[in-house]
Amino acid sequence: MKKKIAILGSTGSIGKTTVEIIKKDKKNFDVILLTANNNLKEISKQVNYLKPKNLVINNKKIYFKLKKKYKKINIFNNFDHFFKKFNQKVDYTISAISGLSGLQPTLDIIKHTKNVAIANKESIICAWNLIERELKKNNTKFIPVDSEHFSIWYLLKNKKIKSVEEIVITASGGPFLNWKVNKIKKATPRFAIKHPNWSMGKKISVDSATMMNKVFELIEAQRIFNLDKSKFKILIHPQSLVHAIVKFDNGLTKLLIHDTNMKIPIFNTIYDNSSKKINSKKLQIKHLNNLLFKKIDLKIFPSIKILKYVPKKISLFETIIVSCNDELVDLFLKKQINFWSIHVILKKILNLNEFAKYKRITPYNTRQIYKLSEYVRLKTKTLSIRSPK
Ligand code: NDP
Ligand code: MG
Repeated sequence: MKKKIAILGSTGSIGKTTVEIIKKDKKNFDVILLTANNNLKEISKQVNYLKPKNLVINNKKIYFKLKKKYKKINIFNNFDHFFKKFNQKVDYTISAISGLSGLQPTLDIIKHTKNVAIANKESIICAWNLIERELKKNNTKFIPVDSEHFSIWYLLKNKKIKSVEEIVITASGGPFLNWKVNKIKKATPRFAIKHPNWSMGKKISVDSATMMNKVFELIEAQRIFNLDKSKFKILIHPQSLVHAIVKFDNGLTKLLIHDTNMKIPIFNTIYDNSSKKINSKKLQIKHLNNLLFKKIDLKIFPSIKILKYVPKKISLFETIIVSCNDELVDLFLKKQINFWSIHVILKKILNLNEFAKYKRITPYNTRQIYKLSEYVRLKTKTLSIRSPK
């Protein structure tokens, strides 16, 4: 029987990788839903070869264009309209919209899917408790997509979480690993988005350059695996071959290696426990002999210090970290602030007295998260534009 599949954010970096995988096995998939925002060319291509049953297109202009062109597909301009009409259950969903815009659709799709593979970090970081509640309520299986979390999840299969002594999350070091601090301070978006190992969306590429991506990944890992921060270590591993290392209390340590592309984790979330094969690079001695790990230099990556602001239990403070960083990355990409200001302003905002109370407030709905996020973004913008470049 064909697998029913939904892809939220099908025109993005993760979305397109997912589409590539299912395109190779088209006869076994029934594409129930694709969603996009601005990318008319890509979504039109996907519609032509995947023949989805439903489309959600947030950009109104693009929505009207598609509505005119494709009469046989149900096309919606927003998720609310779609979910009001949708009453099916799909087998597999990949949630890969970028930013907090991905949160509500992720929560809503959980009711309609047997398995949900979540790439959207922001929803895990800001609202894991809400996601967990929906997963339990709807008996939906969760699989993490981020390569490090996918690797940890894979290494923990058939293991008790209590038996974990330590987990290492690896970081490539991004494009500025070997740059001098003075040069990094003046780095332009062109260099910041040029990741040496991974091909990703612009936002996450800048987060890799500042190392905020690892701050986010550590929070993500804490929430998903329900482990204390003290169990985790982040190490620079420039080759990006080893994605996670887990040490167990029986003295054994497992590590997971896979090619440096998101195809492998996504493929394995779609085909979990199946005999399906994927082409991947051969293991080469020259690579294995060169597995290098080192500590993070805080002078080059001061953003990593943001970790000390993260509360033990999930709180609304994570929404502040995510939204402030999001706005700062936007401003940097628009060349309105410089690269170094990202962590300087982020720290300034996180230290504001008005935000301290949020460390003690557990998120209880998405409205609260979105409202706070909007406020923080505005505050960040105002403060950044006033700050010297
Ligand atoms: P991209 O920027 O490449 O893609 C984002 C996707 O979301 C696109 O389909 C885009 O549509 C859609 N989108 C953006 N804004 C909206 C909106 N307001 N409403 C509806 N749809 C929207 O992002 P990535 O694929 O790089 O990342 C997606 C998520 O996965 C992020 O949360 C990221 O942190 C996470 N992630 C990504 C990894 C990677 O390797 N790229 C690795 C691990 C996690 P359109 O293009 O049509 O405008
Ligand atoms: Mg990652």
